[in-house]
Amino acid sequence: MMKTNLCLLSALIVVAGTAFAQSPAFHQDTTSLPEAPPAIKSFDASVMDLTADPCNDFYQYACGNWMKNNPIPSDQVRWARSFSVLRERNRYLLWKDLDAAAKNPADALQKQYGDYYASCMDTSAIEKAGFAPVKAIWAQIDALTDARGLSPLLVEMSNEGTPAGVFRFGVEQDEKDSSKQIAQIGQGGITLPDRDYYIVDSKRFQTIRAEYLEHMKKMFALAGDTPDEAAKEAGAVMEIETAMANAQTSRTEMRDPEKRYHIYTVADFDNLAPLFDWAGYFKEIGIGRFDTLNVSTPLFFSELNKLIAGEPLSSWKSYLRWQSMHGLAQALPAAFFDENFAFFGHTLSGQQEPEARWKQCSSATDRALGEAVGQEWVKENFPPAAKISMDKLVAELEKELAIDINQLPWMTDETKKAAEAKLAMYRNKIGYPEHWRDYSSIKVSRTDFIGNVQNVAVYDRNYRFDKLGKPVDEKEWGMSPPTVNAYYSPSFNDINFPAGILQPPFFDPNIDPAVNFGGIGVVIGHEMTHGFDDEGSKYDGKGNFREWQTPADRKAFTERTECVANEYSGFEAAPAKGDMPAQHLNGHLTLGENTADNGGLRIAFMALEDALKQQGQTVDEKIDGFTEAQRYFIGFAQVWCENDTDASARQSALTDPHSPGKWRINGSVQNFDEFGKAFSCKKGTPMYPTNSCRVW
Ligand SMILES: [Zn+2]
Repeated sequence: MMKTNLCLLSALIVVAGTAFAQSPAFHQDTTSLPEAPPAIKSFDASVMDLTADPCNDFYQYACGNWMKNNPIPSDQVRWARSFSVLRERNRYLLWKDLDAAAKNPADALQKQYGDYYASCMDTSAIEKAGFAPVKAIWAQIDALTDARGLSPLLVEMSNEGTPAGVFRFGVEQDEKDSSKQIAQIGQGGITLPDRDYYIVDSKRFQTIRAEYLEHMKKMFALAGDTPDEAAKEAGAVMEIETAMANAQTSRTEMRDPEKRYHIYTVADFDNLAPLFDWAGYFKEIGIGRFDTLNVSTPLFFSELNKLIAGEPLSSWKSYLRWQSMHGLAQALPAAFFDENFAFFGHTLSGQQEPEARWKQCSSATDRALGEAVGQEWVKENFPPAAKISMDKLVAELEKELAIDINQLPWMTDETKKAAEAKLAMYRNKIGYPEHWRDYSSIKVSRTDFIGNVQNVAVYDRNYRFDKLGKPVDEKEWGMSPPTVNAYYSPSFNDINFPAGILQPPFFDPNIDPAVNFGGIGVVIGHEMTHGFDDEGSKYDGKGNFREWQTPADRKAFTERTECVANEYSGFEAAPAKGDMPAQHLNGHLTLGENTADNGGLRIAFMALEDALKQQGQTVDEKIDGFTEAQRYFIGFAQVWCENDTDASARQSALTDPHSPGKWRINGSVQNFDEFGKAFSCKKGTPMYPTNSCRVW
């Protein structure tokens, strides 16, 4: 939940609010089987635009033809050459396992995930169940007689695996003592992708708010409201969610560990929001006993108290009815499903049509039971040789980062030693977990999808609650094996690369090293640099939030990160369109990711030079008309070729800590002089500027 993992990319495809399935496709022709997407070439000169000047716009040069010839498929909002196409391929391979397990399971494990998948595919059973599963919850909500009853009601909903919104509660590592796992509570409660959607007074957001209200009205009407009741309920939800949005700390501020660390005793927390029965909630929800907890956003809870005092009980009932219906919408009959897609998929993100049912259900099963379905997938798609090659590459990159730290012009020797000590304590996790999570306690029915979704939600909650007061499991993973992504965790101080990303085009045993260093090499360097970005650098080698830089070094560091933040704030995420002004990137929201991109590009290049040197070669040698240095940068860029809908680009600019592909490429190369040299650019051209930023 509040885990501070820093990934290579955010939910690239998943539309906000549509977490596990996006399509009805209720009458899908089951005789036509999906086709296997092809493997993607690691280096492809045919996707380049050779008429573009690499010194002026390298992204256009490396990706121009790809962008022209690969429009966004109608079931996507963002289509990236490497990430999306590999994701489709991995998901297809996963589907084959799921389909086989659903038809003819070999053991209990396969039966469990096969049944989960089958229940998701069984749309006639979903139609037959109708709205009844949510109606049962609504009866409990209707029975609420006073505000004091909110606490036991939220416990009840949580015990049933029903989303209730309001706030987030779970167990996480203590930011200042990462060996301890403590209770944490924080802001939540809104449905739109960010607080800005409720409170920014622009024409675009006014329109979205009006459309959101209409969407809620339609959903309430589907559930049986008269038009008047639906309008009243939607208005009440909007009022409560807007107040919650106003009480929230911004995404950018939440990146600062200092601002999300506030240890309270249970008694003091109770004083912060006395109208909610916290003691009862903590006692009944099935978590162990605790005396103190981290309240990541105290202001949210004092405002919540005012909201409990100020809003009539009927509004709270509407809010909880909404949260439960919206939260389970994708497991409901087609009418709900379609309306949910119409707003969250189409209106909000620009998606033309839902994904095919088999795609949704494969992803849903991966999210629910990832470490069960992943076992088979790893056997088939991640040979031991790939793991050995990765171990070697990671070791090479770590060596280069140590050299880079040692050579930094702005850092004192004292702080360099501390940085090197932190780096030496990195743990590397590659491919898949050593121990698989045990899901055997989850009851899965072949004909009750919504019940399965709820059972998994309860399992996930209890899995987190069970950590309270226990030692940290250092071998735990936060991503399933087929995932095309990677992450660094500041509290674990570890870098994690699922088997899903250790595939072509990121990693290709049959291509020259320059392309692999530009692909997976930069990915590894990116994750390693996260330990030293604006957020990660505030944690030490043990994963504790603690200053290890001298004050002078921290000042120099901040000056350098501010240079990066200002630079990226100048980049356009979406051009002006109609009466909408251009949308710029938020340089502080994306600072950690941009710092990681810049550092990753530098140290992977150093590693390439070193690897070639050992073979008596340099980056100036040519293959197929390009020098090794050029192939490195082109290989790097071709990971990020992408097309986005305007709506998705604007949404990402507010919610995604990652920059869009264009700026991941152009921003990184213009801060790295080796690029200008590799393409013989004139000093002062856009990609080889006289003033550039450098942190690591
Ligand atoms: Zn990242």
